[in-house]
Amino acid sequence: MFIESFKVESPNVKYTETEIQSVYNYETTELVHENNNGTYQWVVKPKTVKYEFKTNTHVPKLGVMLVGWGGNNGSTLTGGVIANREGISWATKDKIQQANYFGSLTQASAIRVGSFQGEEIYAPFKSLLPMVNPDDVVFGGWDISNLNLADAMARAKVFDIDLQKQLRPYMESMVPLPGIYDPDFIAANQGDRATNVIRGTKKEQVQQIIKDIKEFKESTKVDKVVVLWTANTERYSNVVVGLNDTMENLFASLDRNEAEISPSTLYAIACVMENVPFINGSPQNTFVPGLIDLAIKRNSLIGGDDFKSGQTKMKSVLVDFLVGAGIKPTSIVSYNHLGNNDGMNLSAPQTFRSKEISKSNVVDDMVNSNAILYEPGEHPDHVVVIKYVPYVGDSKRAMDEYSSEIFMGGKNTIVLHNTCEDSLLAAPIILDLVLLAELSTRIEFKAENEGKFHSFHPVATILSYLTKAPLVSIMYLIHNCSVNFFIPPLINFLKLCEQQLLNYRFHRVRQW
Ligand code: NAD
Repeated sequence: MFIESFKVESPNVKYTETEIQSVYNYETTELVHENNNGTYQWVVKPKTVKYEFKTNTHVPKLGVMLVGWGGNNGSTLTGGVIANREGISWATKDKIQQANYFGSLTQASAIRVGSFQGEEIYAPFKSLLPMVNPDDVVFGGWDISNLNLADAMARAKVFDIDLQKQLRPYMESMVPLPGIYDPDFIAANQGDRATNVIRGTKKEQVQQIIKDIKEFKESTKVDKVVVLWTANTERYSNVVVGLNDTMENLFASLDRNEAEISPSTLYAIACVMENVPFINGSPQNTFVPGLIDLAIKRNSLIGGDDFKSGQTKMKSVLVDFLVGAGIKPTSIVSYNHLGNNDGMNLSAPQTFRSKEISKSNVVDDMVNSNAILYEPGEHPDHVVVIKYVPYVGDSKRAMDEYSSEIFMGGKNTIVLHNTCEDSLLAAPIILDLVLLAELSTRIEFKAENEGKFHSFHPVATILSYLTKAPLVSIMYLIHNCSVNFFIPPLINFLKLCEQQLLNYRFHRVRQW
């Protein structure tokens, strides 16, 4: 049975005019390496940590500024939200299609809340805590290409033509603000697109982005803004002591107009300075140590990296399943071909390298978790190939071959072929990322040994479920085991989402 909404009645939960207050006893374990008469042994001890949460129930009017607004993802998300808001339907060769939010965890998934007269009861994920309704989001942003969003949607060739015709009047007047362009960081084949760029030094560019955010907030009358990078994948920037390793050095480098500060890091600096959450949907290392240092010092939310939309999502689920079942994956080979602008940008070796790193790390934790299957240092062969094939457009093909060793030296090979419009997978994930980022800024908590309530760690670990190369705070890892590390902070709604999180693994830890 499906219910639309519910209220919790519990001694641990209190609803006030402005907040939901809850108490959660987190049952975990503590591992100790004990000396028992000269022999060391591991001892596992149960441990309960009491957390108190406060969630502000005032849902703000939210503005979302996309970097790369005129790209396939940006135009698809904007058009998709307008179509939902306006209740648009359109004719396809199969049927009359209604707008929907399929593919969004917050909008289209359900969670089990209990049972009633022996029947399982499910409710929408979005009913767990008050969240922004995506139909009410105001979009804006930057693009180095000056096409309005209607023309950008046509260029993307993602939506059916009947839908495009209906969306055009809403999107023609939406024009991206000029973006920060540095040809050294994206593929040379993007040069023709760069018709709409911010001039000046890097410091002036940061100041312009800050001005843009302020003006967007004023003109749209939104209460809060979240910025998300869905622009082209950049090459990795070099992390160098004295250049970008600390907040001070990053600022000094900005003053010197250092060439090695990437456009994405410049946008991120502007957002952190304005205390606006910034999410990175591409694989590059936007969050250099100096930027993370800055975000922590200013307590401003950052999250990333690289949307986990298609092949990598399947890979995390499948390898987790295989290793969890005691089967040993020995070779994982992934081919992709795609023909959109992202594919063209990734055809350059340096930008491809960023994607390769992001896609490759995804199985590391699963492999490291099972020393029965893998010797220390042993790893499956893992190869990722991406090719640009213009004809297939946004419809990405992903072919994967998983070879595994099974009982008594036997071999098993699984082959997957996945065909899907890339941007239709990514757009709902972008929506989830911004909605959950906004929600995170309304939650405060404290553990029993802490005096005051505080916000989450500025590195938004909760968002990492939706990214390929999660950026997480090492603090959570020290306090909690890897799979459950984010449960205490968001327990009052995440605990109810077990099926969504079942296959979750924490794939990569970036330490600083
Ligand atoms: P796209 O090329 O269609 O769009 C990117 C847009 O960014 C373009 O319009 C471009 O003009 C603009 N741009 C480039 N550099 C800019 C800058 N410095 N400032 C402002 N605008 C800039 O690409 P897409 O298909 O929309 O994908 C966007 C990003 O998302 C890519 O990096 C891609 O790797 C990443 N990503 C996509 C998926 C997916 O689509 N399924 C999954 C994971 C990651």
